Amino acid sequence: ATRRREDYRVPEYLVEEIRLTFQLYAESTVVTADTVYAVNQQSTDCTGRLQLSGENMELVEVRLDGRRLEADEFEVSAMDLILVPGKDRFELQVVTRIDPVANTALEGLYCSNGNYCTQCEPEGFRRITYFPDRPDVLARFTTRIEGDRQTCPVLLSNGNLIESGELGNGRHYAVWQDPFPKPCYLFALVAGRLVAIDDTFTTRSGRDIALRIFVEARNRDLCDHAMRSLKKAMQWDEDVYGLEYDLDVFMIVAVDDFNMGAMENKGLNIFNSRCVLASPQSATDQDFLGIEGVVAHEYFHNWTGNRVTCRDWFQLSLKEGLTVFRDQEFSSDMNSRAVQRIDDVQLIRNFQFREDSGPMAHPVRPDAYVEINNFYTVTVYNKGAEVIRMMHTLLGAADFRKGMDLYFARHDGQAVTCDDFVAAMADASGVDLGQFKRWYSQAGTPVVKVSGQWLAEKRRYVLRLRQSCPATPGQDGKEPFHIPIAVGLLDSRGRDMLNGDRDGTRVLELREREQSFSFPDIGEKPVLSFLRGFSAPVKVELDQSREELAFLLAHDTDLFNRWYAASKLSEIVVMETVARLQANAQPVLDSDFVAAVRANLQRPASDKALLALALQLPAETYLAQQMDTVDPVNLHRGREFVRSQLSSLLADEFRRIYDDNNEEGEYRITPEAMGRRSLKNVALAYLMARVPTDEEIYALCCGQYAEAGNMTDAIAALSCVTRIEGRRRQEILHHFYTRWQADPLVLDKWFTLQAVSPLADTLAEVTRLLANPSFSMKNPNKVRALIGAFCSGNHYRFHDVSGAGYAFLTDRIIELNATNPQIAARMLSPLTVWKRYDPVRQDLIRRQLERILAVDNLSGDVYEIARKSLQAG
Ligand code: ZN
Repeated sequence: ATRRREDYRVPEYLVEEIRLTFQLYAESTVVTADTVYAVNQQSTDCTGRLQLSGENMELVEVRLDGRRLEADEFEVSAMDLILVPGKDRFELQVVTRIDPVANTALEGLYCSNGNYCTQCEPEGFRRITYFPDRPDVLARFTTRIEGDRQTCPVLLSNGNLIESGELGNGRHYAVWQDPFPKPCYLFALVAGRLVAIDDTFTTRSGRDIALRIFVEARNRDLCDHAMRSLKKAMQWDEDVYGLEYDLDVFMIVAVDDFNMGAMENKGLNIFNSRCVLASPQSATDQDFLGIEGVVAHEYFHNWTGNRVTCRDWFQLSLKEGLTVFRDQEFSSDMNSRAVQRIDDVQLIRNFQFREDSGPMAHPVRPDAYVEINNFYTVTVYNKGAEVIRMMHTLLGAADFRKGMDLYFARHDGQAVTCDDFVAAMADASGVDLGQFKRWYSQAGTPVVKVSGQWLAEKRRYVLRLRQSCPATPGQDGKEPFHIPIAVGLLDSRGRDMLNGDRDGTRVLELREREQSFSFPDIGEKPVLSFLRGFSAPVKVELDQSREELAFLLAHDTDLFNRWYAASKLSEIVVMETVARLQANAQPVLDSDFVAAVRANLQRPASDKALLALALQLPAETYLAQQMDTVDPVNLHRGREFVRSQLSSLLADEFRRIYDDNNEEGEYRITPEAMGRRSLKNVALAYLMARVPTDEEIYALCCGQYAEAGNMTDAIAALSCVTRIEGRRRQEILHHFYTRWQADPLVLDKWFTLQAVSPLADTLAEVTRLLANPSFSMKNPNKVRALIGAFCSGNHYRFHDVSGAGYAFLTDRIIELNATNPQIAARMLSPLTVWKRYDPVRQDLIRRQLERILAVDNLSGDVYEIARKSLQAG
C-alpha cells in the first residue's frame, strides 16, 4: 500500500505514558505494555476506534482498565489491533510474545551474538507491542527488564536507572525511566554480557554526565577513539549551537549485527560495531574519521531529532539532513575542511546524482512511499544536508544560528515538519525562503549552464546563467530553484579580483530560468572559478579549456575548486580515451595533461591530503554517469590506460613522493599524518599500476604490507596486490586472513578487497567466498563487504556482458528477501539504473528484475524498488 504525505491526519488518541515490562527469554520474550491513552483534543476525527500497529508477534491478551477483553471485543490482523474503548481516557494492557532469536530482519527486538538489542526506527516498535507507531505520538516511557543474571548481567534502556534487584531463579531486573516524552522509534533496550568503558563530561552549566560505551569483552580496548569523539562532539555542540546534553548518562552500545550505521535512541545510542571499534592496528584512517563522524551524528540527534522530532516520516530530512549538515561541519572543524568538503561532494556526485536520475528519484521531502525504509537515502540524508548548507550560505552563519535558536525555542518537545524548520530560518533572518522551499519538493538534479564574457572596453565581466531540471518520476515540469552560486574571478597571477563577503568569493542568487550577473571594474580577462565549495548540489555545464582548468588547479584560492579542476581535467582525459577505444583507435595520453599532473606533483604540497585527492581519477561509477550509453568495458580500459600511462611517465615523481612520505614515526591520526599517508599510498597505487608490474615496486609494496604498523598502510599495499594475478597474491591474502581471523571488522576489508578486484575470475572468487566460514548472510556488514562491494563497487566485473553478475546478485536478493528485506532492497540499487546500459545488458537486467518480482512472499521493501525500476522502462 502506498502512503501519501497529503493524507496526514493528527492522531485521534495520544499517549500520556507507557510502562513496559520485558521478560527476556531467547525464543519467547513476553512484553507487557501498560499504556494510558487519552483522546487528542486537536483531532477532528471521532471514529472512537483505537488502531494500533503490530506485526510478527503473538497477541497474548488485552485488558481495558483492568478488564480482560474477549476475542470479539477487538480485531487483530497481520498488521494491527483495533478496538473501540468507549472512553476518552483509559489504560490499556497489551501482552505480546516475540522471538528475538528468529528475528533476522533486525527490526524490533533481536539477538546479536547472544545479546539482546533493538532497532525501532522507523517502524520497528510495532514488532515489540501493539502501539500507535508514528513519530507524532510522544510518551513518557518506563521500562522494566527482567533477564538471566548469567547471560544478561547488563540491562539497559532509555533515561535513568531508577531501580534494580534480584528475582530469584538466577534472574534479576532493572527499571529505567526516561523523563523526556518521545516517539516510540526512539525506544531502546539492550541486555547481555557486556563490559562498560566509562568517562565523564562536564557541561558548560556544570552538570556531570556519565559517558558509558558498552561492548563485548573482546572489544574492550577498541573504544578510546569513540569516547574521545563523543566528548569532542559534546563540546562542539555547546560551542557552536549552545546545546547541552540533558540526561545524567549517555550510553553507546556496539553490536555486530545492525542494518545501518547507528541509531540515536534517547540516551542509549546503538551502533553497528563498525562505527565504534578502532585501533591503529585494525582500523584505517577512513575508519577513524568515519567513527568520529557517526558518533557525533548520533549525539547531535539528541537535539535535532529527539528534542525536536518529525511529525511523520515524509519529514525524515528534517532531522537527517540537518544532522548530517551538523556532523559534516563538526568534522570540518576537527579535521581538514577542504578534504571533508571534497569527500562529501564526491558522495553527492557519485551516488546522489545517480539516484536523482534513476527510477527511485524522489524529493528531499518525499510525497509517497510503499516502504519508508527505502527512503533512508542519499537524497534525504546528503542532498538534505546540502539544502541546509545552502540556507546557511544564504543567511550567513550568524543568522543561521538565530534561526536554529528560534527553531528550538518554538518546537522543543514537538513533532514538526520541514516547513516549520524553514519558517524558523526565514523568520529569524528576514530572508524570503519561499522559492527556496522548492528544494524540498522537486526531485532531480538542476543543471546550470554557464557562459562568461569579458567586455574589454567596458572593463566588465558578464556571467549568463541558465537553469533547468530534468523530469523525474511523477514530476514532469519543474519550477526554477533559488540557487546560491559562489563565484570568484582570478587574474592572470591567480589573485582574486572580486571583493566579496567571503574574501574573494561572491555569492550570486540565481532565481530565474535565465539570469545575467555583471561585474564592473574587471580590467583584465579573468579566469572564472565557478560554484566554489560546491555551493549548490547542481550539475554545471561550463566550457573551460584544459589550460583554464590547469590554471585553476594550480592557482585557485578556493581549495575545493582546485580539486574540482583536477577532477574535471582527468574526467575529460579519461572520457577521451574511452571514446578512442570505442572507435577502435589507438589511445594516446594528452601531453598537456601529463604536464599538469607533473607540475602538481612537483609543487610543494601544503596540504598532502588535498594533493592525494587531486591525483585520484574519478570513479568508474561517476564516469559511467557521463556516458549516454554506459560501456563498462571500455570505461574500465580507458581509465586503466590513463592510470598505467601516468605510472610509467611519472614513475620518478611518484617514487620520490612515496619515499618523501614514507617515514612513519609514532602513529597519529592528525590531519597532517593522515594526509601524508594518503599521499604516499596514492603514489604507491600509481607505481603499482604500471603494466607490466615493476618487480622492484612489487617488492616495495609487499614490504609495506609486511612491515606496516597500521591498517591504513597494510590495506593500501594489499589492495594493490589483489589487483595482480599470481601466487604471491594468494599468499598475502592467506596471510592476512590467518592474522585477522578473529576480527570480523578486519575480515570485512579482506572480503571487500577480493570483491572489487578487476581480475577476470572475481565473480567466481566471490561465489567461493560465500562458503567461507567467516562469511554469513545473516550479518549485514558481511553482505555489504562481499556482495555489496562486488555489485556496487566493481562496475567492470559486475556488468560483465554474460549477465553472470546480474544473476548472482538476483540469487542473493531472493535469499535475503526471506531473511532481511531491508538489506535485500538496498542490494537492488545497481540494477535500478539498467536503462543507462546497452540493449543487451538492459535485457539481461530486466529479466532479473522480473525474476525478483515473481518471487512468492516478496517483501514490500524489495517490491517497491524492483517495481519502480521496471516501470521506468
Ligand atoms: Zn541520522
